[in-house]
Amino acid sequence: MPEAPKSPFKPLDYNLAEKNKKVLQFIEDVTANADEVQKRVLAEILSRNASVEYLQKHGLNSHTDRETFKKIMPVITYEDIQPDINRIANGDTSPILCSNPISEFLTSSGTSGGERKLMPTIEEELKRRTLLYSLLMPVMSQSVPGLDKGKGMYFLFVKSEAKTPGGLLARPVLTSYYKSSHFKERPYDPYTNYTSPNQTILCPDSYQSMYSQLLCGLYQNKEVLRVGAVFASGFIRAIRFLEKHWTSLCNDIRNGTINPQITDPLVRDAVMKILKPDPKLADFIEVECSKDSWQGIITRLWPNTKYVDVIVTGTMSQYIPTLDRYSNGLPLVCTMYASSECYFGVNLNPLCKPSEVSYTLIPTMCYYEFLPVHRNNGVTNSPSVPISLSEKEQQELVDLVDVRLGQEYELVVTTYSGLYRYRVGDVLRVAGFKNKAPQFNFICRKNVVLSIDSDKTDEVELQNAVQNAVNHLIPFDATLAEYTSYADTSTIPGHYVLIWELSLKGSTPIPPSVFEDCCLTIEESLNSVYRQGRVSDKSIGPLEIKIVSPGTFDKLMDYAISLGASINQYKTPRCVKFAPIVELLNSRVVSTYFSPKCPKWVPGHTQWNNQD
Ligand code: AMP
Repeated sequence: MPEAPKSPFKPLDYNLAEKNKKVLQFIEDVTANADEVQKRVLAEILSRNASVEYLQKHGLNSHTDRETFKKIMPVITYEDIQPDINRIANGDTSPILCSNPISEFLTSSGTSGGERKLMPTIEEELKRRTLLYSLLMPVMSQSVPGLDKGKGMYFLFVKSEAKTPGGLLARPVLTSYYKSSHFKERPYDPYTNYTSPNQTILCPDSYQSMYSQLLCGLYQNKEVLRVGAVFASGFIRAIRFLEKHWTSLCNDIRNGTINPQITDPLVRDAVMKILKPDPKLADFIEVECSKDSWQGIITRLWPNTKYVDVIVTGTMSQYIPTLDRYSNGLPLVCTMYASSECYFGVNLNPLCKPSEVSYTLIPTMCYYEFLPVHRNNGVTNSPSVPISLSEKEQQELVDLVDVRLGQEYELVVTTYSGLYRYRVGDVLRVAGFKNKAPQFNFICRKNVVLSIDSDKTDEVELQNAVQNAVNHLIPFDATLAEYTSYADTSTIPGHYVLIWELSLKGSTPIPPSVFEDCCLTIEESLNSVYRQGRVSDKSIGPLEIKIVSPGTFDKLMDYAISLGASINQYKTPRCVKFAPIVELLNSRVVSTYFSPKCPKWVPGHTQWNNQD
């Protein structure tokens, strides 16, 4: 049973201005001394882990200086340490990667072999994450004063967790954070005053959690000064939920009751402590929600909202138009950049336009290095990053303070929890500097072609999935001539669309059920994060196959060449984003099919086979 949160009272000597000043000074100090801090961080990580197996195996021999470290230690990807990770997951508690005990695994939305990557973590990392969170509001309040006078309506959720065969918990980093005492028993802070009681956030049932958080948010609508979720997709899902359930929510507000479908006793208790009958508010919400247009619904229902706090950088930028419509153009604020491996940075200019967001990497979080990346061709404009690095490429990595303005880099980190020169997989571009510390635009996650929520599908996964699906066409003497794909975010939730051009030799027509089987086979073949999004989080809609008329992909090539692609080098893009190309493809669709049901998914890695 989750522990009841202690009600945080304001200490008598609480001085918000003083606290904010200290935080801003901390940012000044660590960015002004970025190189010294980085040197110290690396020395600290290496000295405390000097005797771990991984560093010994590579012969680091207790050295803690940058030069020796860079000369001796290889730059690695997850697959390089997967055998070590598996040993830890299977119960080996010896100091393999880290001298501190591994407290749990954080399951990344990045996958390897179709399963979530497992990031070992240690207890003290929670403090570092809490520190990064504590920087956000003092920075924000420089641009938007008075945020301490009201509440934040944030839709926050926990996801399912599993146990490794060795008994360690494996769960997403945010689930770990919300379930920790750092969140549940947070001391008084006017900036962590949320409309959602902890119990509604910690409720494992996503329907009950969403319903109760919306109910509390609507009921306290006048107090809300900012709204948000982690990613844009999650926030839009909440608005969609409201569209579907506002009559029931209004009914609860009118009568001071909570819908009997909400059965979790902790949630019911927590909500009933807040809710009193308010027929006037219920009438107001009803009038607003029954209007034909939902344009500006956020500013209408929560009239004091100053901004929407969601990540809209990277693939999340596809949701900006929808958010602009719902919020009537309120500022969209991206506050931080973080991952399961480590939390990295904050946006020091939070009211800037989404396209200009840059994150200042905080030098105390981990030791950073940067691998230069080069654009390989002007048409797809995709950055080229080698999978394994030659000796020379390994020497090209530069330190935090040595990156160059305008240059793109892949992020490589050495963390307190046992990752050494680990390639995170993100491509960043230097946009400026805060003192000595660089500020980065987030460019993309390497190789990802499709993403709706936290799912990240790469070209190889897509290719394999399509290959599995086309087997259904063999009995009809049909083959797939060409295909491409795009993420359709005009539906809520969004979904993957595959565009197929067939080459038909047989005369038997292909029944719709065969294409539906193709849709499902693709979904079954995609990685576990995708399938979880379909099954558990309901954050991804059924996959769609659109069959286009013969010759469509020739037209696509003609179009690309008219835009400047080289005829010799032209390759069908496996994912398209450019609106005119999507329109061209859609104008030639002859039939469409959807996946008839959800693919299979179980929490944890399938091979662990434990669901208790
Ligand atoms: P996970 O390992 O599942 O926690 O996901 C971390 C990844 O999410 C990062 O490596 C990025 O690819 C992406 N991400 C996190 N924060 C941001 C951000 N502010 N903007 C764009 N992408 C982000």
